[in-house]
Amino acid sequence: LIEERIHETLLEVDLDAVVHNFNFYKSRLLSDIKLVCMVKANGYGAGAVEIAKTLQYHRCDYLAVAVAEEGIQLRKEGISLPLIVLNPEVNGFEELFNADLEPEVYNFRILEAFIKESERRGITDYPIHLKIDTGMHRLGFLPEQIPDMLSVLKKQKGLKVISVFSHLSASESWHFDDFTHRQMEIFRKAAEEIEQAFNYPVYKHILNSAGMERFSDTKWDMTRLGIGLYGISASGLPGLKNVCTLKTTILQIKHISSNETIGYGRKEKLERDARIATIRFGYADGLDRQFGNRKGKVLINGQYAPIVGNVCMDLCMVDVTGIKAEEGDTVILFGENLSVIELAESIGTIPYEILTSVSPRVKRIYI
Ligand code: PLP
Repeated sequence: LIEERIHETLLEVDLDAVVHNFNFYKSRLLSDIKLVCMVKANGYGAGAVEIAKTLQYHRCDYLAVAVAEEGIQLRKEGISLPLIVLNPEVNGFEELFNADLEPEVYNFRILEAFIKESERRGITDYPIHLKIDTGMHRLGFLPEQIPDMLSVLKKQKGLKVISVFSHLSASESWHFDDFTHRQMEIFRKAAEEIEQAFNYPVYKHILNSAGMERFSDTKWDMTRLGIGLYGISASGLPGLKNVCTLKTTILQIKHISSNETIGYGRKEKLERDARIATIRFGYADGLDRQFGNRKGKVLINGQYAPIVGNVCMDLCMVDVTGIKAEEGDTVILFGENLSVIELAESIGTIPYEILTSVSPRVKRIYI
């Protein structure tokens, strides 16, 4: 089995590290606050089903996905935790209802459609989560829309507000702390106004991973943990464990003379004789083409090797001159000693994009 694995391209996912990170955030919380864990986008690339099963076993309170299909897949795999769907479609009530998925409600159009559908089916108190736009200006009711939203909600029996929430737009960045505090204050008032309209407690949540790392949670009763669960702290907090290691193998090694060019478009001309290794990973596997021509690197037997020439669809070339590397050796594209944060910075993107770009054809294994 080990032989077989060596010759594969794999995303190795450390579930113990997921549990460590989950407990790490839980133990840092000041208040008795519920944790919603993000398993959208196939669990940030790590595999939503396995991550959700692990979290269910470790008594996570809630899960969240982006679209109904992601929630339906989790239900089919035996996930019974309450599940929020963040970006439901206006005509999607039936599939949410059939899979017991709880929608985010973000505007009047979807609110009214879901009320109509629930009443048509004779459903009462279907759980929903109200989203308030406090400055991100993505989905959500604006604070001035709250009175009208409440009067629509009070006239109906089909839907029941379980939580009210908002999203911070720059929680990781101290440059914007004044803005973040303003968002939290707007949200506190909005949540109070909404809660007063009902005769039962409504969960209030605004913090994401970096928000949990940098701000007090004592005003809220829920929090939404995303990237931190997968081992990445946007605010640089130490103590998390690496979850994902992306691995492949060297297919071929050759000595190529100075002045020869490597790969498509002849972009890279060698300035000296070099040992070039071709590895089984390309842009169709999720390697951004921006990493080509020495912008990116890989790890082979503990040493870094730059990516040379343009990245191909299924392969790329690395310069292993002076590096201990043989055909068949393992190549690490990211992991413990090749951080996703650093890689993302080097091409002007964010760790989220690197993690969620690992293509479905890369086999996920769980250790
Ligand atoms: N809440 C919402 C609404 C989100 O869209 C996301 C992620 O994009 C999160 C929480 C989790 O954020 P993070 O991964 O930064 O913890």
